[in-house]
Amino acid sequence: MDEKQLLMIPGPTPCPASVLLAHARPMINHRGPQFKAVHAEVTENLQKVYRTTGDVFVLTASGTGAMEAALVNTLSPGDKVLALSIGNFGNRWAKMAKVFGAEVDKLDFPLGTAVDLASVREKLSTDADKTIKAVLVQFNETSTGVVNPMPAIAAAVHEHGAMLLVDAVSGLAAIDLDTDRLGLDVVCAGSQKAFMCPPGLSFVAFSKRAMAAAQVAKMPKFYFDILKAQEFAEKHETPWTPAIPQFYGLQQGLRLMLQEGLPAFQARHLRLRDAARAGATALGLRLLVDDPAIASPVITAIYAPEAIGPDPIRKLALTKYGVVYATGQDALKASVFRIGHLGFVDDADMLAALGVLGNVLVELGFPCDPSAGIVAAQQTIARALNAQA
Ligand code: PLP
Repeated sequence: MDEKQLLMIPGPTPCPASVLLAHARPMINHRGPQFKAVHAEVTENLQKVYRTTGDVFVLTASGTGAMEAALVNTLSPGDKVLALSIGNFGNRWAKMAKVFGAEVDKLDFPLGTAVDLASVREKLSTDADKTIKAVLVQFNETSTGVVNPMPAIAAAVHEHGAMLLVDAVSGLAAIDLDTDRLGLDVVCAGSQKAFMCPPGLSFVAFSKRAMAAAQVAKMPKFYFDILKAQEFAEKHETPWTPAIPQFYGLQQGLRLMLQEGLPAFQARHLRLRDAARAGATALGLRLLVDDPAIASPVITAIYAPEAIGPDPIRKLALTKYGVVYATGQDALKASVFRIGHLGFVDDADMLAALGVLGNVLVELGFPCDPSAGIVAAQQTIARALNAQA
């Protein structure tokens, strides 16, 4: 059954049929009234999801494009930035800032942990002349499955006065983040994550301060010029030809998300996280992230048994059962696999993913009760649902 897969990766994520079908409409004039109506609805609903009354722009790009837009529209070559990295995506953003000419100071934290606030505060407090223009941070680091403590990070950065640029590509909407209340300057997100849409669009929220920075930012840009995006957004258009099918899909994805309601949407992700962690532990596997308080609601990184390694587990799950787990990344590639539980994923998907994991482990010679994961997850889910009722 090649067409049927249980896609348990942190993006692209599964898409509801109504989202996929929305992409199949005939093309329209992107400078005409029909597109303006779609753009207006999508922007308003994105603002709800971002919890901002400020500007949110839709870019034709994956999340990395949004991260590039964040940098080039707020900074100039030679500007000093502090990059906080807790994994692969933190490393990528620091690299990108360097490519565009920023002077990057990077703080690295051990894989599987969140940003250490004391180190951040210390770093910022030694910058007496306020030369650091911006701090870069991941909200949810997808490579390790860790959520950073954004309120505390925001407070520390505001005390210093630098701008705070946030990569929330895998976290926005699935995990609570209040852009305005936390005073975040730029927040990046992507369509193929919580939004239940295919890849292809990304989003950036810009605060008033970030828009003011855009007036003087000198990093090179053309396609991702946010002042141009703002000029066109005022008439509900994009500067360049938009990906119209993706806009239709996003319109539907946002409607579904808001119908479910953000609190319920986020509670579902927390439940899936707890089920994944309980299930993997019950199967005798070790989690990368020890501390449940920072464990991601959208992705769980699990150490494969040393004698087996992650690749045979992923391969057998795919070929025999049609279940797709994600690889580990970079330094974790040889030791970790990840179960994504993001977007259009429910309790039944998680039970199936853990049931298959039990079978696969036994088939590969790992001594465990193959149903232990599913049982632990069932109990975890039942407890959470009962507590909610
Ligand atoms: N940042 C984070 C935290 C991500 O999880 C991803 C993608 O997985 C990206 C950035 C990059 O997004 P994309 O692959 O859509 O360019």
